[in-house]
Amino acid sequence: MAKLTRRRFALAAASATALLSQDKPREITSASVLEDPIAPGVSEGTLPPHLPFDSQINFTRQDVAGKVKPFPLSSVRLLSGTFLSETEINNRFMFAQSPDRLLHVFRVNAGLPSSAAPLGGWEKPDCELRGHFVGHYLSACAFSYASSSNHELKASGDYIVAELAKCQQQLKGGYLSAFPTEYFDRLAARKKVWAPFYTVHKIMAGLLDMHQLCGNAQALTVLQGMANWADHWSASLTDAQMQMALDTEFGGIAETLYNLTALTGDPRYAKTGDRFLKRRFLNPLALRRDELRGLHVNTHIPQVIAAARRYEISDDQRFCDVAEFFWQTVVGTRTYVTGGTSNNEGWLVGPNQLAAELKLGDATNECCCAYNLLKLTRHLYAWTGDVRYFDYYERALFNHRLGAYGQYYLGIVPGSWRTRETDFASYWCCTGTAVEDFAKLNDAIYYHDADGIYVNLFIASELNWDERKFKLRQQTAFPDQAGTMFTVETSEPTQLTLRIRVPSWVAGSASVKINGKPSEVTASPGSYLSIARLWNTGDSIEVGLPMALHSESMADDHSLRAFLYGPLVLAGKLGRTGLTEELVTGPEGPELNKAAPLAIPEFSAAGKPLHEWIKPIEHTMSFQTTGQAENVELAPFYKVSRERYSLYWKVT
Ligand SMILES: [Zn+2]
Repeated sequence: MAKLTRRRFALAAASATALLSQDKPREITSASVLEDPIAPGVSEGTLPPHLPFDSQINFTRQDVAGKVKPFPLSSVRLLSGTFLSETEINNRFMFAQSPDRLLHVFRVNAGLPSSAAPLGGWEKPDCELRGHFVGHYLSACAFSYASSSNHELKASGDYIVAELAKCQQQLKGGYLSAFPTEYFDRLAARKKVWAPFYTVHKIMAGLLDMHQLCGNAQALTVLQGMANWADHWSASLTDAQMQMALDTEFGGIAETLYNLTALTGDPRYAKTGDRFLKRRFLNPLALRRDELRGLHVNTHIPQVIAAARRYEISDDQRFCDVAEFFWQTVVGTRTYVTGGTSNNEGWLVGPNQLAAELKLGDATNECCCAYNLLKLTRHLYAWTGDVRYFDYYERALFNHRLGAYGQYYLGIVPGSWRTRETDFASYWCCTGTAVEDFAKLNDAIYYHDADGIYVNLFIASELNWDERKFKLRQQTAFPDQAGTMFTVETSEPTQLTLRIRVPSWVAGSASVKINGKPSEVTASPGSYLSIARLWNTGDSIEVGLPMALHSESMADDHSLRAFLYGPLVLAGKLGRTGLTEELVTGPEGPELNKAAPLAIPEFSAAGKPLHEWIKPIEHTMSFQTTGQAENVELAPFYKVSRERYSLYWKVT
């Protein structure tokens, strides 16, 4: 979401079609050919005369029944372990926020008195994105209340909702924001403005979460006022004007509007949401064509989440096609080894060209993008119950989200380091997504269908399935421990099927003990291990998930490899050469041209099995290369902080 700095813009402009493509919309024509500096002359072919989405997109309510359902956040509690510790770090940040300081820009905009000290960063009174963090904060308060009964944060959220209602009343017409409606006039006139609908979307989503998870009735009233305002605003533009406006501003606002129709039954909101569908983006996806190059990543993923939600409430297959193909092409051909995507905020190259993209800038892997891909993944998984979605989910969760609290870009160029936000002076988009993300790390561990429970993640936690009077306790130190253990508590013997994910990275096969006895039950990696039985209190299941070293190469440069151990990406530790506090705390990402140059070791081991030259360091999850000109310690990436590292290595 960052405005492109001069440096970043110069890089992007020099390397790919201009990232600020919203300034120069590229029309989809029946013979569009991209200028591609990576693969000159590659044609995208011709588009059919009838595109899947035209100006007439009709909405009819028809809910889609997914194959599996997530448990509500309130049914799952984290137990002592890495994820609970990460939640506590987030709680400390959340508790440090002053609701009156958060409200300051809203009150000023509404002409109400405020004596609070203004915040810094993207919440500064002159920042065009001001108010966005308040939306995330409301969502995080609601998630935190649902996930861990955090009454203090709920009270904070309730207070902010009540005060925002006063601002809305003052502003009239349902409008609510921390900036004037003039920003939207600029949007309609195609004049320069940052992202007003992006910001409004976050506030609307926060209100919806406060209503749905904390039972705050006023939040729904305020939200409906905002939705009505968005309806009026978008209805005042012609379809052509609206499509032009969407070239300037890409919000995921349609998602909240669809959610509002799902909640209230009123199709008016969905119809408003449909006006925010950017057809130039959706049409190629529905045709299974990757034309993502040159687009801004973090404002487009939310549009696909909106499409996913649109499918769920209308059974319109076109939206399903968009979401499935987008996920497939981005996860399959545009994510780095951590599960993250983007460089300089954009997709700078075609599919499967990440080694080339890595050379185009050091501002890789915006954290919001990983958060939003995880969100999209949850939708796709619920439709299908397809286990492969969780191979990706686990990869991104353990290697991109874990350890990245307070980060914006997760540097992946060799020699990078983690940079962190400044308290009260950053408030980036990624600050907002992080407070949401880390308030609900209990999400997506368990799903269910009529037959039983799906266990997708190995995280110490307790599931309480009220309707079935069935409790499942998962105890594990995973990923430090290569396995997990479950115990059952039930008021009466209960027949159900427990399906435990066997990840694709499992070396050999998973082992299972039921009540201490080895079981014959097996499942190959990349499937569910299924145990159907009559469960009694005290029943236990022990699962072994053997890990091994493995590596992944870049599709466009096979000599560039990353190493993994089981689910964990390994980072080579390269010391603190050239790192200063100014380079670590405050910047959005590692700026390699400002640090001392660092020679990245290369390895000579092509063709040799990994275990012959990468040896475990006893009693740790770390490894050491051997027999190289310069040997390197490789440690789980999420544990590597405050030093320079590399994830990719030249191996010849
Ligand atoms: Zn971000």
